[in-house]
Amino acid sequence: MERLQIKTGGRNQLLDVTEQIARLVRPHGKDAKAVMVYVPHTTAGILINECADPCVAADILEHLEMLVPPSASYRHSEGNSDAHIKASIVGSSVLVPVTGGELSLGTWQGIFFAEFDGPRSRHVYVTFLS
Ligand code: ZN
Repeated sequence: MERLQIKTGGRNQLLDVTEQIARLVRPHGKDAKAVMVYVPHTTAGILINECADPCVAADILEHLEMLVPPSASYRHSEGNSDAHIKASIVGSSVLVPVTGGELSLGTWQGIFFAEFDGPRSRHVYVTFLS
């Protein structure tokens, strides 16, 4: 398993980490059949979606914010319940097939680290499956 360190820059942010993960995958060449990308946090997640038009990431964040507003009434006293809920919706791992050392993503797909309680220093675990 490899570990990526990520610094996020805002409370809510979708950060494109596709190239960072691709760089870790390439040396494994034909050995890896898939890669599991996992986020060990409760207020951040990982997702795959369109990376060509940045408006898509902006729309996802904006609509998650409308769906789970930070100012709503929550029981959790830490003040970041919205972040826990958004991270639960997004999920904490993605599985991507690998072919010849390259991520087999669709033309418009990218892998995004989803920050919901930043800015923070975060980690992403990358496990190769063969
Ligand atoms: Zn909390």
